[in-house]
Amino acid sequence: MTNPQWSNWSGHVSCRPTEICLPETEDQVTEIVQKAIRNNQKIRIVGRGHSFSQLVETNDILVSLDKLSGLIEINDTKDEATVWAGTQIKQLGELLFEHGLAQENLGDIDVQSIAGATATGTHGTGVTFGNIATQITKLTLVNGKGELVHISKTENSELLGAARISLGTLGIITRISIRCCPTYNLKINLSKGTWNETVDNLEQLNKDNRNFEFYSFPYSETVQHRITNLTTEPAKKDGLTRYFNDIVLENGFFWLLCEMTKRMPSISQRMSRFISSAAVVTTKINHSHKIFATVRNVKFNEMEYNIPIEAYKDCAIEIKAKIEKEKYQVHFPIEHRFVQGDDIWLSPAYKRDSAYIAVHMYKGMPYKKYFEDMEAIFRSYNGRPHWGKMHTKQCDTFEQIYPKWNDFKAVREQMDPNQVFLGDYLKDLFGC
Ligand SMILES: Cc1cc2nc3c(=O)[nH]c(=O)nc-3n(C[C@H](O)[C@H](O)[C@H](O)COP(=O)(O)OP(=O)(O)OC[C@H]3O[C@@H](n4cnc5c(N)ncnc54)[C@H](O)[C@@H]3O)c2cc1C
Repeated sequence: MTNPQWSNWSGHVSCRPTEICLPETEDQVTEIVQKAIRNNQKIRIVGRGHSFSQLVETNDILVSLDKLSGLIEINDTKDEATVWAGTQIKQLGELLFEHGLAQENLGDIDVQSIAGATATGTHGTGVTFGNIATQITKLTLVNGKGELVHISKTENSELLGAARISLGTLGIITRISIRCCPTYNLKINLSKGTWNETVDNLEQLNKDNRNFEFYSFPYSETVQHRITNLTTEPAKKDGLTRYFNDIVLENGFFWLLCEMTKRMPSISQRMSRFISSAAVVTTKINHSHKIFATVRNVKFNEMEYNIPIEAYKDCAIEIKAKIEKEKYQVHFPIEHRFVQGDDIWLSPAYKRDSAYIAVHMYKGMPYKKYFEDMEAIFRSYNGRPHWGKMHTKQCDTFEQIYPKWNDFKAVREQMDPNQVFLGDYLKDLFGC
């Protein structure tokens, strides 16, 4: 019998694990780890497979917590919710909403698991918010010795810095507690601007708005602003206009344009300019978790780097100039987001307020040269890669760009002395 096939969202990473385990209880998670230790097997953990890097890849045991999801409890003061780690972000948003609660910030999709999203440092935008892992107050994991470890400010607190973003290398996270706030409505304005105005006024745009981000388009001076602020206006039902914008224009029509460009890559520049001119301009009002989430049906590959905020403008200008000089065949927009620094050891935003710049390539179109050249620029600005997105391994430089790199490795060895959770990709990443 052949082993089951697993592949990630973009289809770029695939493997054939010997088995895919779907535990339904914490005890079953512990048994899986203990059995793997006895049999000298490796384990990788999968959330919802939305990472572009090879973090999940394994030819041994793959563990998914899809069946270990849902609400465990909300605390008495109603500012913390504990869920099973396999809970999808969308489900978490709905569960919290039923209790009058919400997460303070999110990324731009909601289909990941909460454990998977936080494990790679998934972030949204907004200079007064850290990445999603900064919302974690407690977590429980089964480490590489098969022990259940509770981590919070009052229990094993020395592990909090390492465990909130751990790439699934300290153990299988089973429970996560998230800091919550009362529900709130957001209004998002999608509008067009120009490149020069936007980069020149960035500080103000970030100051004036709760969540500011923008998309730039290769070979175009037009950008799309996505400005989100609190509102007391009531949520508006998703009507036909929203369906038309989100599904027909941003996915269906966009997919058609991408397919055309894949078949005739020489039209990339003109296509990118056309896409920028056709960028959606609209306003939506809804409950926060529904505003953050967008539908992404068009498949792509992506590289994203975190840049210190002070270096952002120079870096963004250099990226734009390099694309124009090299004339890469790319028509996919570039995303620019801004976050607050934090204290999580492997967070790309560790101890620095940051910008994230993400470059994308439509699935099936060559991306290597484009990503390599962009990566060289990101690195020259002290860039740190998003762990869930494409990047080349640089264990020699991680030590310099992550002040706590060796501390993390020491915790890793202590939590997983038999290297149960290190597959080949992660061994290389950690320089083992
Ligand atoms: C269309 C799309 C949009 C995206 N948008 C954003 C965005 O807005 N912002 C952003 O920052 N990123 C974004 N990402 C990246 C994505 O959020 C991350 O790659 C995220 O880690 C994926 O979550 P997942 O549940 O699919 O986890 P997976 O990709 O399955 O796993 C990610 C990591 O988490 C580990 N893991 C999963 N579950 C557990 C567990 N229970 N215990 C321990 N470790 C575990 C895995 O081993 C792996 O190392 C996007 C990706 C896609 C495809």
